[in-house]
Amino acid sequence: MTEGWRVGHKVCSSCRKEKELSEFSKYHKGKYGVHNQCKQCKSACYFKTKDDPDKKERRYLASAKYKNRHPYTVKMRLRKTRECLADSYIRQILKQSNGIIHPPQELIEIKRQQISLKRTLREVKDESSSANA
Ligand SMILES: [Zn+2]
Repeated sequence: MTEGWRVGHKVCSSCRKEKELSEFSKYHKGKYGVHNQCKQCKSACYFKTKDDPDKKERRYLASAKYKNRHPYTVKMRLRKTRECLADSYIRQILKQSNGIIHPPQELIEIKRQQISLKRTLREVKDESSSANA
């Protein structure tokens, strides 16, 4: 232990304050399994730069690069959000098909039920058609 700070704490790389590990979001590659920046600094940074076109461009390029390098990981992650009908996935559908950008939680729940109903129906259909074949 060469660090001078307390156990279960970490110094934020941005605000240089010593904070509890719970003040940092989880990141498996980071030291102690958390990010270098505390949650507060991370969200401050995000809101400060989210409308910056330069930053948007860079973020887009970085994600394109990542997709190129790890097509399998991206594919599996996408499949996972699709399979468990994650909020992010449903929000994406609502945005694409209905143009709703900030759907209320109730709408997300309804859409989730609708999608799972559709899936169940499709499964039943598939089963009966393969039984006939
Ligand atoms: Zn901080």
